[in-house]
Amino acid sequence: MGRKTVLVSGGAGFIGSHVTVELIEAGYDVVVADNMSNCDLTCFNGVKEITGKKDIPFVEMDFCDLPAVEKLFADFDIAAAIHFAGFKAVGESVGDPMKYYHNNLVSFMNILTVARRTGKCNMLFSSSATVYGEPDQLPVIEETPRKDAESPYGNTKRICEDILHDCVKAYPEVKGIALRYFNPIGAHPSALIGELPRGVPNNLVPYITQTAIGKRECLSIFGNDYPTPDGTCLRDFIDIVDLAKAHVCAVERMLKGKMKKDYEIYNIGTGHPLSVMDLVTAFEKANGVKLNWKYAPRRVGDVVAIWADADLANQELGWKAERPIEETLRSAWAWEKRLAGK
Ligand code: UDP
Repeated sequence: MGRKTVLVSGGAGFIGSHVTVELIEAGYDVVVADNMSNCDLTCFNGVKEITGKKDIPFVEMDFCDLPAVEKLFADFDIAAAIHFAGFKAVGESVGDPMKYYHNNLVSFMNILTVARRTGKCNMLFSSSATVYGEPDQLPVIEETPRKDAESPYGNTKRICEDILHDCVKAYPEVKGIALRYFNPIGAHPSALIGELPRGVPNNLVPYITQTAIGKRECLSIFGNDYPTPDGTCLRDFIDIVDLAKAHVCAVERMLKGKMKKDYEIYNIGTGHPLSVMDLVTAFEKANGVKLNWKYAPRRVGDVVAIWADADLANQELGWKAERPIEETLRSAWAWEKRLAGK
């Protein structure tokens, strides 16, 4: 059997670049497509260096442009598609909802529409634990009821899940897997690819590493009066390489006809909660650095606690988070230092 080609939309970004590496290392051909709206070529070049593959096809395109998507599917024989090409800033989505609804929904519908016409639409959607909102039970399983989204960003994740599910029900040629990510952090052990936030980081770990390197003065820990053991929020921080590997397992499951249902959902997390304070302490310990931090008021929209029950992914996908948190945090720091030329 020949090598299969996987399309990675948004493949030049943080998660997409790590997934591209793992797919190539697992023997897939990958087409990377990205409109470069939220990244530059740093990670794509890093992917080429890590894999030693200099000829990875790269298409600069916008998935909201239907003719461009049609051309992409005409130019490549795509066996499965992984869709990362979406905007992801929660706060921005509240201020400019149409930007989010337009980009995140139209791009996804365009891929689905065109992939369907090929007669084999194997679609992996990058969803988020944000669909669970503030859950009533912990850890969350895939059947834990979704909550109304707190932001337009979160709503686009929920709606895309529904679009995929409805398409699977209606069209026999469509199969879908939604992976619900918890909090992806860290970088590739090579430090050649990692997270490249534009402007002031919203997420915890880039803020930590930028503070440690001196780009930011002080980390604000948002809230220390939550009903948790140390008063700070609880999250399931999942290593980016582990998370990327889950995509390879999901693609294999799809392409090898191992799916039990035509639409499946998996939580991709470690199954273990860590508090924001735990993470700060672990970062300091793993890297031997002292971080400047202070408590600050709660951030609007934050859930108190969420972590995954990842048993389903462990059993069905044969995937498990493996990288110890210290290693993950060392990789995040190595990446930040590399960016700073240190
Ligand atoms: N957080 C923080 N300071 C920051 C960024 C994040 O205390 O500068 C906290 C945030 O309040 C949340 C956790 O870190 O409790 C994870 O936030 P992040 O934005 O990384 O991911 P989220 O869980 O919101 O998707």
